[in-house]
Amino acid sequence: MNAETKKRTIKTIVIDADKCDGCRACEVICSAYHADPKFGSNNPARARIRVIRDPLKDVYIPVYAGEHTVAECAGRDKYIIDGKEYDECAFCRASCPSREDFKEPDSGLPLKCDMCEGEEEPWCVKVCLAEALVVMEREEETAEEETEELEDLEVGLESLASKYGKDKILEALARMTKED
Ligand code: SF4
Ligand code: SF4
Repeated sequence: MNAETKKRTIKTIVIDADKCDGCRACEVICSAYHADPKFGSNNPARARIRVIRDPLKDVYIPVYAGEHTVAECAGRDKYIIDGKEYDECAFCRASCPSREDFKEPDSGLPLKCDMCEGEEEPWCVKVCLAEALVVMEREEETAEEETEELEDLEVGLESLASKYGKDKILEALARMTKED
């Protein structure tokens, strides 16, 4: 199959931690945007961004939820900022088995920043009055329009399978297919 090359715009959110004042508006709006119904409720525990806060030292560092990893990593980093040592996994973007960060609190499913499903301006950027979050855009040639969606689906299925076991997931799918 011949894959057509297309141009797509890649958006990146650049974080300027020095500007962040720790207001957590980004966490609140992210959880509200992804609530069901949209904006019907908010709970920062469901946000795909979290702000590491140390008000006494005036240290605030926003971290976006990245990829899910099935196994925890073997190497860890330690950070010392203004004389304070931060947890080994503090700035990691992944949801992984060794911590509860970036997991949907009810289901345990991994959360990942989805750039507000392609909204022109992501909500966390919109509400960040301190301008600590800024969108940068660049053009990229790609032949993989559908790959990303497929990857997201696979990550979700993999996570469900590791939580409930592959057989249970297959049984549930078989039941759902019959009900249809
Ligand atoms: S909205 Fe901006 S200033 Fe407030 S916590 Fe988030 S990144 Fe920091
Ligand atoms: S871009 Fe959207 S999904 Fe990602 S952290 Fe910001 S509000 Fe949440």
